[in-house]
Amino acid sequence: MLQTKKPSKAWLVFDNTPSIRQTSSPVPFPLSTEHETIMQQLIDFVRFSQDPKQNINHIVRPAVGLAAPQIGENLNMYYIRIEETDDKTGEKIVTEHAMINPKIIGKSSQLACIEEGEGCLSVDGDKEGFVPRSFRILVSGYDYLLQKEVQITARNYEAIVFQHEQEHLEGKLYYDLINKKNPWTKEKDWIIL
Ligand SMILES: [Zn+2]
Repeated sequence: MLQTKKPSKAWLVFDNTPSIRQTSSPVPFPLSTEHETIMQQLIDFVRFSQDPKQNINHIVRPAVGLAAPQIGENLNMYYIRIEETDDKTGEKIVTEHAMINPKIIGKSSQLACIEEGEGCLSVDGDKEGFVPRSFRILVSGYDYLLQKEVQITARNYEAIVFQHEQEHLEGKLYYDLINKKNPWTKEKDWIIL
């Protein structure tokens, strides 16, 4: 595994930086060491942010995903880590995707949004409101952790996280999708997660 420095807020690019609004570029294969290091930084940052033993006093905000443009690299890469607890067994379930050149190739017309809205490491202070997204998506791309091309069907919260990260590669931010006049008005067919 490549070694990266200890993650810090100084790695992050915020929404006052023009590059966060730019479209990212495909990553060429075979992967260069430079590109592998960028992916490893994304992985390290998110894992660090979620680890209470390391991220003492919230040195960085806990995150479920991070895209390369958020650390100043306009490349088509992101990493997602969702940790859940099985209601019945109490067992910890971790879902990870380290995506290179991901594409969303299918989307349900059914929309869903997270009850409390979304947040983003590149946006200081949360912008309130529902962020409507597809409830179910199909993603294709190369998974760096599995070292192969994958197709993933994601639903619910996982689908929301994928779409949030994918939009970073297009220079979009979650608050672009919030209804400016009525941020908490929901359409009746939206699923609230
Ligand atoms: Zn974000």
